Amino acid sequence: MGITIKIPSPLRRFTESQRSVEVDANNVGDALRELVSKHGELGVHLCAGDNQLRSFINIYVGGEDIRYREGLKTELTDGDEIMIIPSVAGGSGGGESISNNGFSRDEYLRYSRHFTLPEIGLGGQRKLKEASVLIIGAGGLGSPISLYLAAAGVGRLGLVDFDRVELSNLQRQVIYTTDDIGESKLDATKKRLLAGNPNLEITTHEVPFTSTNALDIATDYDIIIDGTDNFPTRYLVNDVSAFLNKPNIYGSIFQFEGQLSIFNANSGPCYRCLYPEPPPPGLVPSCAEGGVLGVLPGIVGSLQATEAIKLITGVGDPMIGRLLIFDALAMTFTEVALRKNPDCPLCGKNPTITELIDYEGFCGVSSSAETVTVPEITVTEVNEILSNGNGAYLLDVREKWETEIAKIDRANLIPLGEIPDRAKELNPSSEIIVHCKSGVRSAKAVEYLIRQGFTNVKNMRGGILAWADQIDSSLNKY
Ligand SMILES: [Zn+2]
Repeated sequence: MGITIKIPSPLRRFTESQRSVEVDANNVGDALRELVSKHGELGVHLCAGDNQLRSFINIYVGGEDIRYREGLKTELTDGDEIMIIPSVAGGSGGGESISNNGFSRDEYLRYSRHFTLPEIGLGGQRKLKEASVLIIGAGGLGSPISLYLAAAGVGRLGLVDFDRVELSNLQRQVIYTTDDIGESKLDATKKRLLAGNPNLEITTHEVPFTSTNALDIATDYDIIIDGTDNFPTRYLVNDVSAFLNKPNIYGSIFQFEGQLSIFNANSGPCYRCLYPEPPPPGLVPSCAEGGVLGVLPGIVGSLQATEAIKLITGVGDPMIGRLLIFDALAMTFTEVALRKNPDCPLCGKNPTITELIDYEGFCGVSSSAETVTVPEITVTEVNEILSNGNGAYLLDVREKWETEIAKIDRANLIPLGEIPDRAKELNPSSEIIVHCKSGVRSAKAVEYLIRQGFTNVKNMRGGILAWADQIDSSLNKY
């Protein structure tokens, strides 16, 4: 009957590099005898003089150690697979036995598909077990990154996030379930990862990743993975990686397109070599504003996890100095070469950035000296003003599709991106109240209008979501 014997990489030099050998046998002893008859040199490595298996060889059939079945007499059925796992004398210890390879019996089975890969094998799996990876962001990218690295046996994972799970996350953040809504993302992630692989150490950093704590957090890890969704954190992650000389596995997603690279300022370009400065605030919408295909972070995050495993085990060609652009609509992967920019402010010849900076200010999203104060108004106040019938103008800066889900009757729509062109439609001296979904886009619009000389313009705090909560519960929330 047809039996496949998987040959581990250390023994393949005796099988002319074959990764598996087919034999015809009824039990394990016969199968090994036939294997040795085909590849004589294996004999001395597998068996001692008394025809017994050498103590540092473990044999598994159908995922089970034959020592716990009938040893060499363990019967085989057609199609069975025999795995030879060389180990150091595991002996007859109890269920807790950890061999000198550092793996428990559970782990031998758990990672058996990795052991079989010659490029990974026991050595690569041990590197994974000893590795530590910091994942910034437990959202769409963080879901596949953390799930796959945990499953692959990366021994120590750090997670940074401080959000709670929301219903609108579930379209792409596949690590969470409906039951997790309202829970801390990191608590839910840790629980899910340990349920999948209890052999891990997971550290949660439930704080915003900032210039104050970033170096302290990241210094304990070998590799940093960027799963963020905003520019200030992206530049911060890049600079921290460069200062600590750790690779930064970068992924980004927007609508139907994703990007992947590894930035490592000491052996290749950094993110600032690619984009020295962020786009002005409001120019590039976030995923919340611009949307994202739910499966896209699944693809890009899986690519990031792949690069992490490759870096740790040292196999393959890492994405250093290369940028991969994935277009889901065209279903194309395009690669471009990235060069180190000699004028890079971080890793160029004359760097101007030599310590962590104010990233919110750098990206123009916080109140620095030049920013204007955005006057706010509550939904209750807005409701009173509108009910009194005075001439206040309610401006909705969301996208048209959003008005099909929910809108306030009196509101006039001008999407944020069209405000610069259409501001002339507005009367600069009348009272203008601006709203969006939650108050972020409308704050940008108010800031823009004030800079253009509008004197009586206010941001409706909390957006249409607050309106739905406090004024009109018949509105759909999204
Ligand atoms: Zn650079």
